[in-house]
Amino acid sequence: MYISTRGNSSERTGKEAIALGMVPNGGLFVPRIIPKINWQELKELNYSGLARKIIKLYLPELSDRTLDQAVGVYRPDLFDSENPAPLVQVGNLGILELWHGPTSAFKDMALQVLPHLLKESIQSIEEAEKVLILVATSGDTGKAALEGFRDVPGIEIAVFYPENGVSAVQERQMTTTEGKNTFVIAVKGNFDECQSKVKEIFGSKAMIDEFKKGKYVFSSANSINWGRLLPQIVYYFWAYAQAAACGKIQAGELINIVVPTGNFGNILAAYYAKEMGLPIKELICASNQNNVLSEFFQTGIYNRLRPFYLTTSPSMDILISSNFERFLYHMSDCNSEKVNLWFKELQSEGKFEVDSQTLAKAREYVKAGWANEDEVQATIHKTYDECGYVLDPHTAVAVKVCQEYFDTSGDSTYTIIASTASPFKFAGTVLRSIAPQQGTENEWESLERLSSLTGWAIPSGLQGLDQKTVNKTETTVPSEIPNLLTKLFL
Ligand SMILES: *Cc1c(COP(=O)(O)O)cnc(C)c1O
Repeated sequence: MYISTRGNSSERTGKEAIALGMVPNGGLFVPRIIPKINWQELKELNYSGLARKIIKLYLPELSDRTLDQAVGVYRPDLFDSENPAPLVQVGNLGILELWHGPTSAFKDMALQVLPHLLKESIQSIEEAEKVLILVATSGDTGKAALEGFRDVPGIEIAVFYPENGVSAVQERQMTTTEGKNTFVIAVKGNFDECQSKVKEIFGSKAMIDEFKKGKYVFSSANSINWGRLLPQIVYYFWAYAQAAACGKIQAGELINIVVPTGNFGNILAAYYAKEMGLPIKELICASNQNNVLSEFFQTGIYNRLRPFYLTTSPSMDILISSNFERFLYHMSDCNSEKVNLWFKELQSEGKFEVDSQTLAKAREYVKAGWANEDEVQATIHKTYDECGYVLDPHTAVAVKVCQEYFDTSGDSTYTIIASTASPFKFAGTVLRSIAPQQGTENEWESLERLSSLTGWAIPSGLQGLDQKTVNKTETTVPSEIPNLLTKLFL
């Protein structure tokens, strides 16, 4: 069963939690009990089998048919090969490549599955005839969600992205999506403004009632939705199994995991994996210049009142990190009163400070660091020079933070980096880092040059993007989002 981080909801089934996306009057759904599993039981399974086992633990009420369809997505025509998440050895690090799905970012690992979970889940919310998925994206969730939900009967999807806050490839991927049920909207504002507005709509009784008249219920494909986090737990077990299979670790040995972090979803999935019994020593949270999280782990203060930077890792340009609420719920020993207070303060004052016990526990579970723009470029350059491996800027943030962690801690535990995007999604930045003299402002030319320079193939979903027809898209300001939705859907 699932409960609210803010203690403001009755217990819900997993299906209800997924259908609702978030707690209707604020708060996020968390599992009341985190199931334990012996990872030894899992090591003979293929990826789909592993996913099936883990998803079933959290959603026992799901039908076998839905489960089969959900885990059936991890097949070669969608994820490149039999192994949807290969662990590649680069120097002393294991790089877990999570970007072999249709949109070349790790979001596919969950967003290909979510529509299947949601289809059955919606039936548990009786009043719903149609579902309107609202998505705020810092770049990658948008396209992955559009692909996942494209032409799914009974579902429509509207994606909001910051007009100048995503890469050229990310924007073109979204605006060229086919499908009659997809809507893409550019917002004059940053990701936090998009996300806050969308969350506000989920919590607005007036909007919910108005859309109910049109037979719509809202849901979310952002990682505030439990259905997004759940499939992400799987690949940490998968990474461990691969490291053990190739002899990098002995069975039962501890590993570290480093995650380039924005909304704290991906690293939270690793936290759940650890709580379920996966032998993890350190979880390391890596931020870019928008380092609100690493500052929190240093000071215990979460302060979003700070400059917002547009960086070369745009999918991490986030100051209000949604899933941090779930993490703090667990770190405060499930104290929903405290969580309620902190997040009310965040809304009214722009910051909050946790008590020393919560901070101590948070620090015990997660180490944190950040990398600036020069360090990201230098890390991409050095990794290519020394290992011939091409990092995307988000993964480079994690590699840099990892190296710093090694240097300061002296820890030599085998460490896995969650690699979240194909370098071709950010080809301009990557090319300029590896071979500055070849840099070009033309993003499409960058893709070609990066490919010929490195010998790496351009992922099929990114080929010919510049030739595709761009759909008509709406542009709006954050405050007009509710009106635009009414105009588009009612
Ligand atoms: C979404 C995203 C992240 C951040 O993941 P969170 O789950 O939001 O912390 C990092 N890198 C890339 C490439 C992403 O698309």
